[in-house]
Order: sequence, then C-alpha cells, then structure tokens
Amino acid sequence: MSKVFFIDIKQGSLLPELVLKSGLKEVVRKDNFTAIKMHFGEQGNIGYIKPHWVKPLVDLIKEQQAIPFLTDASTIYKGKRSDAVNHSLVAAEHGFTIDSCGAPVIIADGLRGNSYQNVAVKGKYFSSVKIAQDIYYADSLVCLSHFKGHELSGFGGALKNLGMGCGAKAGKYEMHNSVLPEIDPLKCTACRVCFRWCPTKAISLVNDKAKIDPKKCIGCGDCILSCSFHAVQITWNETYTAVQEKIAEYAAGAVANKINKCLYVNFLNHLTAYCDCYPSQAKDKPLIGDVGIVASLDPVSIDQASVDLVNQAAGRDLFKEAWPPINWSDQLRHAEDLGLGERKYTLEKI
Ligand code: SF4
Ligand code: SF4
Repeated sequence: MSKVFFIDIKQGSLLPELVLKSGLKEVVRKDNFTAIKMHFGEQGNIGYIKPHWVKPLVDLIKEQQAIPFLTDASTIYKGKRSDAVNHSLVAAEHGFTIDSCGAPVIIADGLRGNSYQNVAVKGKYFSSVKIAQDIYYADSLVCLSHFKGHELSGFGGALKNLGMGCGAKAGKYEMHNSVLPEIDPLKCTACRVCFRWCPTKAISLVNDKAKIDPKKCIGCGDCILSCSFHAVQITWNETYTAVQEKIAEYAAGAVANKINKCLYVNFLNHLTAYCDCYPSQAKDKPLIGDVGIVASLDPVSIDQASVDLVNQAAGRDLFKEAWPPINWSDQLRHAEDLGLGERKYTLEKI
C-alpha cells in the first residue's frame, strides 16, 4: 500500500517538509536534470499553481545539487500555449521567471510541439507513446499538479498532468481523437468564431449553422473553448473512458525510464470544475474552499487520495456532480492495471 502525505492548506510553510517526508531525496540525486512538470495556466486563467509554491521546491532540489527546470508541453488547441515562444511568455506573465522561481522554463516538446521520443508501452490502445523530448531526457521528475475537475476525465490530477501533459502535440492528438464534439444548432448563432480556432478547418456553415466534419476533426476541443454560446458539446458516450485510459497509457510512457525517479505533489486548492486551459474567469470559480496539499511517490495513490479528500470536504462526489456522464475512476482503474501504482493508500497528516 503506498503512502500519501498531507498538509492543510493553512500549513503551506510545511511544503518542504511534506516533499522531504515523501521521499524527494531518494528521487532527486546530485547532477540530475530534474523536470518540474507544471501547468502554467492559460492566459487569463487564475487557478494554476502559483510561483511562490514552486520556489521552495526548486531550492530543495538545488540543495540536492541537482539541476531543476520548470516545464510543460504545447497544447493542441490554439491558445497562448500552443508553441514554445508564446507558452514561455505566458509562463513569465504568470510569474514563472528565474528571479521568482530560481529555475528556467523550458517547453519540453520544442518550438512547434513536435520534438518527442517514442516510448514503448503495453497498453490497450498504444504500443508506443510520444513523450515530450526534454521530459524524456530528464533524469528525475517532480510532478506538480493543480487538482480540479476536468471536462474529459472528471478530475485532473497527477495522471492527467503526466499523461496528457507530457505528451507532445501528436500524442495529444491521439489521446483526444476518440472524443468528437458536435454543435447544437439551436444554440449556434453562426458567429464563426470557432472557424478561426479550428486547426484542421473542420467547421463550416451548413443551413446557416456551424457543422463539424468528423473526417477532419481531430478532437482537440478548441472549438468548445472558443464558443461563447455553449453551442459546442461533446457527445455523452463511452469515449470518456477511452480518453482516460489513453491518458493512463501516456502516463505510463512518461515515467517508463524514471523508475523510482518521480515524485508527485497535488495542490487541492482553487477547486474548479474545469481545467486550467480555460482563459475564462467564468469557468475559473472554485466549487468549494481549499483543502490542502498532498505528496506521494505513487501517481495512482495520490490521485485517489486527492479525490477522497476533496469529496470528504464537499460531503458529496463533487466530480460526478460537475460531470455526471463521466466515470472519473476509469483513469485510476486503468493506471492500476498498467502497474503505475495502486488505489489503496495510507494517509499521513503532517
Ligand atoms: S462559435 Fe459557437 S455560435 Fe459561433 S459559429 Fe461556432 S458553434 Fe456557432
Ligand atoms: S472541430 Fe474538431 S478539430 Fe476543429 S476545433 Fe473542434 S475539436 Fe478541434
């Protein structure tokens, strides 16, 4: 049974103790290039993990005489993080600078998101996954995840940050492509905003309403984000299970060359229904108050513990309530089946 360590959000000054107790010194060794995997937040988003949480972790990694860098990979939707230049600028805008964090930002899959390594996995969907180059070549990994709801996986935590987050653009395409959105003609105003954002020109006007060509759509979700009229919807069907299982297989690929070299920290604060890719503050409102911070060497245990802690605090299944058609446990089940970790854990409060 894996251990998960917990501090209340009011005990933030104990963050270094939390990660040391969780095994940072065993994971990060002298001269290790250490990827601190983050989500810097889409431009306009306010839910992402703030730089003041990152700095003490960078300092601890440096005390180990290791070499930390902050990193993420490009998005497939056309926001401000879909290439390395703009992604770095947004990170700087959100305060992730060498001055404030003590480590540089390196976008791991290169200028256009096409630098990756193929990594073999034994999955149901994939025998090989495309992991962002500089995460692949790092010696150790500290995965910092803002825990919150997610429109495709019910919740997003360590597995999502590892799987979707460490996949290069081509990898993100193959994780998404079983989820194709549809446009509700009753809500569509034919404003054409989604046309500009669609990377594959899959949307056209038919009978004065937007329509998606499923042969061209790659499931990137960009049109969902761009439509102000909530006209673009994902069909509620079993594809959510497939996406979650694919994320778990990518997560397995992301850590395949880092056995005993990964540590996970989940921040259970600013608990929104939507992920940090949304720029809109309307989608950035917390559902409940902050809960705490957890750390573990096991990405499955930490996500299971995070769901349990949040749902206990809410007194109900917050993620099922936010996303009724999604069975969020699919990602945990498949990750456990793949040998990434275990759902049973012991929780130690510091
Ligand atoms: S952005 Fe929304 S309302 Fe505008 S054309 Fe696209 S689907 Fe219709
Ligand atoms: S129609 Fe498909 S490819 Fe185009 S933005 Fe929407 S999800 Fe992406």
